[in-house]
Amino acid sequence: MKLFGTNGVRGIVNESMTPEIAMKLAQSLATYMNGEGTVVVGNDTRISGRMLKSAVISGLLSSGMKVTDLGCVPTPALQNYVKKSKEASAGIIVTASHNPREYNGIKLISEDGTEFSRENESAVEDIYFKGEFLKASWENTGNYKKELNANEMYVNDIVSLVDSELIKSCNFKVAIDTGCGAGSLTLPLLLKKLGCKTISINAQPDGTFPWRNPEPVESSLTELSKIVSTSQCDLGIAHDGDADRTVFLDENGKFLDEDLMLAAVGKFILKETKGPIVTPVSSSSMMGDIAKEAGVDIYWTRVGSIDVAYKMKEVDAVYGGEGNGGLIFPKHQFCRDGGMTAAVVLDIIAKNKMKVSKFRDAVSSYVNIKIKENIVDPKKVVEKIQKEISLSDGMLDINKTDGVKITCEKGWILIRPSGTEEIVRITAEAKNKTDAEKLIEIGKNILRKAVTD
Ligand code: MG
Repeated sequence: MKLFGTNGVRGIVNESMTPEIAMKLAQSLATYMNGEGTVVVGNDTRISGRMLKSAVISGLLSSGMKVTDLGCVPTPALQNYVKKSKEASAGIIVTASHNPREYNGIKLISEDGTEFSRENESAVEDIYFKGEFLKASWENTGNYKKELNANEMYVNDIVSLVDSELIKSCNFKVAIDTGCGAGSLTLPLLLKKLGCKTISINAQPDGTFPWRNPEPVESSLTELSKIVSTSQCDLGIAHDGDADRTVFLDENGKFLDEDLMLAAVGKFILKETKGPIVTPVSSSSMMGDIAKEAGVDIYWTRVGSIDVAYKMKEVDAVYGGEGNGGLIFPKHQFCRDGGMTAAVVLDIIAKNKMKVSKFRDAVSSYVNIKIKENIVDPKKVVEKIQKEISLSDGMLDINKTDGVKITCEKGWILIRPSGTEEIVRITAEAKNKTDAEKLIEIGKNILRKAVTD
C-alpha cells in the first residue's frame, strides 16, 4: 500500500484525509524519530488546517516529541525555519498546495529543510501500516510552544539574498494575487521591504478560496491581468495555495509560460554563477538549451520536487526546478520557493534594466502538447512499454527515468502513467505545432500497441 504521492499525502477532507490519518502519520514520524527532538508544524489557509494540525500535534505529543507551532505559513517559510532553527529536527506542514478547496494534505520536512527523501518517506510509511506507535508515559508526553516569527524571518532572509537597494531604487509597481492562500502573509511584506508599490487582490487569508482556485493558472488570473495593464504595473505576481510556486504576468498583463520562466530565470542565474542545473524529464528543452549555452551539465530527474531537490544537493547544482512555477535556489534553500522566486525576478529586471516581457526573448520557445488517454492499469502498461521499446527510425534516445521519454530529431515524447487516475499522459514538444502533433501520434501508437499486444 502507498500513502505518499508525488508530494506528500493528500486527500479530500474527512474522506481520504481525516484527523485519524493525520494523527497516525504524526505518530509514525515520532516513532521513526524515537520520540526525540522537536517537530515544527504549520498550516496553509485551508479551512480544515487547524483540525488536521491539531491531530498532528496530538500524535506528536503523545509520542513524547516537542512541538513548535508556526501558525499559518507558506511551505517554504516553514522549510526555512526548520533549516535555520537549532532545535528543530523535522517539520510537518498541513497543506494541499494547489489542489482544490476540499483537499488537504501533509508533507514531512527533514532537519535541513528539504522535503523527506523517498526512502525516509517509505520508512515512515512502513511504521504507519504496522500501526505500532511509540507512546510516552504521562510525565513524558511532549511540550508545545508557539512561534510566530517564521513569516518575517523568511521574508528577511530573502531580502538579504538579493540586491535590495537596487530593487528599491527602481520603484517597481507590482500587482499581486496570492489567491487567499498562505502567501498573503509573506508576499505583500516582501514587496514592501523591496520598496515596491503594491496593488493586492485576494490577499486576505481565506480557506474557502472565494475568488479563484489555489492553482494559479492563466485563466484564473484575468482580474490580475486587468489590474496590471490598466494600472501601468511593471509586472503581476501570483502564488499557489501554499506559496511554493510563483507565476508571472508581464507589464502588459500577459501570462508568462512557466516552462519558459523556469529556463529564462535559469539563464540569468547561470550568467552569474556557473554550475550544474537539475529539472524533471517533463521540463521543456529550453532547460537543455540554457545548460548547453552556458556550458554546464544538466541532470533530468523523475517528476516531483523531492527528486529534483535531492539531485541538486547531490551534484551541487546552482539552480533547478519544475515547469510549474516551482523554482529552486540553492543559495537560499533546496525547495520550491515562491517568495524567493518573486524576489529573484525583481533582482533580474533591476540588474538588466529590462521589462518583464523580455524574459520571452531570453530563450527560444517550443510548442508543447499534452494529452491524456484513458487506460486500465496505466502503470502496468507503461512498464510494458519500458520493457519492450527499442530505438527505431528517427529515435535518438530512450530515457526510462520516469515513464518513457523518447528523444527524436524533431523533439521529444514523454509517456507517463498517472499515480492516482486510470490515465496515461503523453507529452510532446517540438519547434513547431505540426512536428509536435506528429510526435503525439507516435506516442499514441506506442501506447495503443502496448495495450493491444
Ligand atoms: Mg504548492
